[in-house]
Amino acid sequence: MKGLFFAGNGRYEVKETKMPELKSEEDVLIRVEAAAICGTDIHILEVPPGHPAAEGAILGHEFSGQIEKAGSKVADVKPGDRVVVDPSLFCGKCYYCRHGQPNMCMHNTCLGVFLDGGFAQYCVAPQSCLYKVSPDTPAETAVHLDPAGCVLTSLGKLNPQVGENALILGAGPVGLYFIMMLKRMGMGKIIVSEPSSYRRQYAYKFGADLAIDPSSEPLEQILKEHTVDGADFSVDTVGTLINDAVSYTRKGGRILLFGMNSNAWQTICQNTITRKDLTIMGNYASRFKFDDTLRILEKGLLPVEDMVTHRVSLEEFQSGIDALKSGRAIKVLVDPWK
Ligand SMILES: [Zn+2]
Ligand SMILES: [Zn+2]
Repeated sequence: MKGLFFAGNGRYEVKETKMPELKSEEDVLIRVEAAAICGTDIHILEVPPGHPAAEGAILGHEFSGQIEKAGSKVADVKPGDRVVVDPSLFCGKCYYCRHGQPNMCMHNTCLGVFLDGGFAQYCVAPQSCLYKVSPDTPAETAVHLDPAGCVLTSLGKLNPQVGENALILGAGPVGLYFIMMLKRMGMGKIIVSEPSSYRRQYAYKFGADLAIDPSSEPLEQILKEHTVDGADFSVDTVGTLINDAVSYTRKGGRILLFGMNSNAWQTICQNTITRKDLTIMGNYASRFKFDDTLRILEKGLLPVEDMVTHRVSLEEFQSGIDALKSGRAIKVLVDPWK
């Protein structure tokens, strides 16, 4: 089969490799139907890397497919079933797993980052990470489970209330998931800050009331015109915008830090946070939200199909990365059979 291997230091290679084998009786072999490039993949391939990964591993952690083969102890799914994976594997035994925080597992690992993932024709995964997809849900819809599930998890923490004004910083795929979900939750106004005009168009398409260019428009003044004293809550989907969030969130408001960039450092006036009585929260990955997420994906509640701007083969992978980096792509799907 064909796969895309991480070769370290910003490099990868597409090559033929032998079919993966089940490593345990609880594993399944999945024929990958759809995979998507995530911002994490871009960070893995940066020099220096913005996210760690195992050299030699097949990348791709957002993928769905059909079960080809199942180990003897696999109980809830069978060959022929269509599934989507939660790529984060947790131990179930550590302090965090036993306290309902598997996303903080002390022994966690991830398919497509540290273990072989879905930028390949086949992938082996344990049954514990599988979510069964209804036969009439396209693979290209199910493939959104991981990122949309992480956004849904963080919304549970942020607890938006009907009628509140939201500020979303960044309208890449994650920002767009936030916009489409918040739209359906009944926000007052959804205000988006995004420098790319291409992405601002998508922000409007998915429900933004106002999408502004922070490089040329006065965000502070615009927020004053559209809210009483700033957004009720702000979300930084980029990973570098905590100062904007602190400035543009009203007193007593909430800030959710979702985007990640381990190379970025910010200088911040702590006193502003105290004086404004702000609540700032981080969110990492997902926690028990994949069933809910799959339900709304299967129901067609989120127009995720409209996010797909590019479909590439494994050989065309670089063109997908380049399109994403240039800001002229939203979701890039990888078809390992193309
Ligand atoms: Zn991802
Ligand atoms: Zn654990």
